[in-house]
Amino acid sequence: MKSLIRCLSILMPALLAGAPAHADLQVATSLTDLASVAQFVGGKHVTAQSLCKGYEDPHFVPAKPSLMKSIQHADVFISTGLELDGGWLPLVLPGSRNPKIQPGAKGFVDASQGVDVLEKPTGTVSRAAGDIHPLGNPHYYADPKNLEVVARHLADVFSELDPANAAEYAANAKTFQEKMEASLEKWEKVMAPYKGASIVPYHPNFVYFAERFGLKLFGTVEPKPGIPPSPRYLNDLAESMKKAGVAVVVYQPYYNADACKEVAKRAGGTALAITTEVGGLPGTDDIFSKFDVLVSSIAEALSSKTGGK
Ligand SMILES: [Zn+2]
Repeated sequence: MKSLIRCLSILMPALLAGAPAHADLQVATSLTDLASVAQFVGGKHVTAQSLCKGYEDPHFVPAKPSLMKSIQHADVFISTGLELDGGWLPLVLPGSRNPKIQPGAKGFVDASQGVDVLEKPTGTVSRAAGDIHPLGNPHYYADPKNLEVVARHLADVFSELDPANAAEYAANAKTFQEKMEASLEKWEKVMAPYKGASIVPYHPNFVYFAERFGLKLFGTVEPKPGIPPSPRYLNDLAESMKKAGVAVVVYQPYYNADACKEVAKRAGGTALAITTEVGGLPGTDDIFSKFDVLVSSIAEALSSKTGGK
């Protein structure tokens, strides 16, 4: 008996250490939406976590050591690409000291690959001028169709890294696409009465959403991406909104709500807190519920302010 216990006490730690990991692929992302898509495509073979939370500005995430540590053992890192995470990811990735997920390695993914990028700059881009969209608009995840592109891409990546489960990844991506198509049909019906209506977002992160659902964008509350508005700018914006009959301002919880409320009030309109990222507001725990909440809240605001026009 004693020898059996001794034998087990030697064996157990070895068995535990050699036990299979909970998931076949540990995935980390720079955006909650990407973690949601990765989880859907990966199913039970993947655990996905996002470094930026849904209530944080994805442009500006503090590059804390805890973030670096959390991706130390990740097999895959999915970046939003187009420099949405360009201000912090170049610090966090090397800080993780994980060679598997550095740019150029098989485990590094640029999720914008294959997406039709809008607002690509044509001239010289000056970061000094505060342009945080140097490669075009990086908020492509506000169009459901673009997430179908991401899902197919991720299925390919996961299959290459984990060939044993390739058939499941492909099947999950197909199911994702079917679910997204059915959902899109539903969302398009909700938005149909508001085709041609104008909204004013705080930041230019609505261009893909507007394009998909036929909305018009009437400027932004910030004068340039990443530049806070001056009182004079807000005044001019409110005046021009009033003249044009534009009444709905939308902003994410991480932006300056006061500026949005002020400009909406002066224009005789309404300011609405919305989320374009999964987890930004209650009830937006995955990519589908995010769009459910986003679409219904914008439709409701436009309905009360424009009477459906
Ligand atoms: Zn942006």
